Amino acid sequence: MQKLTILGSTGSIGVNTLDVIRRHPQRYRVIALCAHSQIDRLFDQCLEFQPRFAVIRDAQLASELSQRLRAASCPTIVQFGPEALVQMAELPEVDSVMAAIVGAAGLPPTLAAAVAGKRVLLANKEALVMAGPVFIRAVRESGATLLPIDSEHNAIFQSLPRDYSGDLLKSGVHSLLLTASGGPFRNTLITDLENVTPEEACAHPNWIMGRKISVDSATMMNKGLEMIEAHWLFNVPAERIEIVIHPQSVIHSLVQYVDGSVIAELGNPDMRTPIAHALAYPERITAGVEPLDLFEIASLHFERPDFERFPCLALAYRALREGDSAPASLNAANEVAVQSFLDGKIGFTEIPRIIATVMDQCPVSVLATLADVLAADSAARLIAERAVGELGRS
Ligand code: NAD
Ligand code: MG
Repeated sequence: MQKLTILGSTGSIGVNTLDVIRRHPQRYRVIALCAHSQIDRLFDQCLEFQPRFAVIRDAQLASELSQRLRAASCPTIVQFGPEALVQMAELPEVDSVMAAIVGAAGLPPTLAAAVAGKRVLLANKEALVMAGPVFIRAVRESGATLLPIDSEHNAIFQSLPRDYSGDLLKSGVHSLLLTASGGPFRNTLITDLENVTPEEACAHPNWIMGRKISVDSATMMNKGLEMIEAHWLFNVPAERIEIVIHPQSVIHSLVQYVDGSVIAELGNPDMRTPIAHALAYPERITAGVEPLDLFEIASLHFERPDFERFPCLALAYRALREGDSAPASLNAANEVAVQSFLDGKIGFTEIPRIIATVMDQCPVSVLATLADVLAADSAARLIAERAVGELGRS
């Protein structure tokens, strides 16, 4: 019986995770469910999965949830706030932590799971992008197991040799090919991008996801973050990671070997596949995903990414090149810019402008501890908020 904490249980990844778990009640037991504000959904999840703990944003929501659960004879203990998230990630009885909070808010509990030597199922790519060196050191020192949930990284993980130790040369790996759908604006006239709405940006052609990652897919910052994520997960330099636009999202990524072989993982675009893979690894379990019908797909299409249309890609490469705190600044600026776009404060094409401003103004500093990462994150947020304010006035 694998015992789990799910960070971000009410989100897109959280709901898909519970859908896989529901199919295998004899294998998995949910110990803690953690969410932010969707109290109704968390209440339903508690009734169904009967976790020992539930965590919600604040004291008021916690007291409301607690009363409702008691009235429904559900014994779940309700806690609240960021410290409770960290505690749930460290619980001694928990083996595996699904890290599926969106954004920087997920870093402290996700890192805590790594420090505690848990099996970390990593969806929260922002945590690794922000804190790369700190996170990887924690995994190494504690002996934690890091399993990627992001579909591309899960595909790469499945396509690398089973004993891959982070040494490209020794494994005969030439490069990683990271596929990208290109998002909803792959063919939109560049001059029209200025006026696209949050609803248009969130309408992803292949995947149903949370709003933040949907906007990241539309700007292709998602692929920039994933390039940095792949760098840390697989110890591969940026020049050995190639981004390939593949609009059907059937090939989830590929590994090119020195002998010319290319190994890929394919499947229908459904996050339950990587979730089930990581949950059961190294075994295989059913995920509720339809078998792939190659005849229906008929043909696969590939394009080079257009760095002019998607300036966020170049910003991500720049952040990785600058190193240390630069990816944390990139991530913080992006989070502020995306939220400002979703709130109608700035236009779509202002997202990369805000990020570039922040990167120009934020000094790059060494990251040795979580406190260093959080300091870089806060500094970048301040500059980003100011840049948003200045745009709003102009
Ligand atoms: P979402 O917006 O649907 O869900 C986010 C979850 O995080 C919710 O449960 C919410 O309650 C919780 N949350 C948000 N802020 C919080 C806070 N301050 N404290 C505690 N909990 C908080 O997002 P999603 O699409 O499920 O994405 C989650 C993560 O997985 C992101 O990092 C995303 O990049 C990554 N990811 C998602 C997908 C996908 O298909 N959705 C694919 C690959 C990677
Ligand atoms: Mg992805």
